[in-house]
Amino acid sequence: MYTLITAEQIALRIKELGATISETYQGRPLTVVGVLSGSVIFVADLMRSIGIPHRLGFVTASSYRGATTTGGEVTVGTGLLPDITNRDVLLVDDIFDTGRTISRLLKELDHARPASLRTAVLLWKDGCSQVDLVPDYHGFCIPNQFVVGYGLDYDDDYRHLPMIGVLEPQDLK
Ligand code: 5GP
Ligand code: MG
Repeated sequence: MYTLITAEQIALRIKELGATISETYQGRPLTVVGVLSGSVIFVADLMRSIGIPHRLGFVTASSYRGATTTGGEVTVGTGLLPDITNRDVLLVDDIFDTGRTISRLLKELDHARPASLRTAVLLWKDGCSQVDLVPDYHGFCIPNQFVVGYGLDYDDDYRHLPMIGVLEPQDLK
């Protein structure tokens, strides 16, 4: 595996994102909603860089796909979602690839009638989108490579790594 984005680069960028988000939502009833499980590390760090009061919730999303391939129907779970009616919601995920997960989740969250609904992702695989939508905030644009670490997994491993890495052929099962 080799490192694509170091822990230091991630930390710096999250400080910037937090400052921008704090400014945007100053005086607003903000709820940050993380997408389990990939966003947990990003959400935890992003929250601590947001300098205004806000609440936290989670949703789940899974799609039928191979370990490193994309496709299929996205299934959404809202059992861990607090009441977001009339609140400003920032949906946070690890990566925007085809955009189908975020797109599906936005539709679901919209049913709860939030005051506003925006998206933040750490990584954006620019050029891979299959939906008419772009993330409102993103940490880094990356090439179309399969990445792990900082919450992102390969076959449920590698989530604990502090950096974003790219797996090499000998790392793949
Ligand atoms: P999308 O629906 O945008 O195609 O994919 C979003 C989800 O696919 C992410 O939340 C993540 O779980 C998974 N995903 C997409 N690209 C990658 C990648 O490069 N590495 C890992 N580990 N997961 C990815
Ligand atoms: Mg995910």
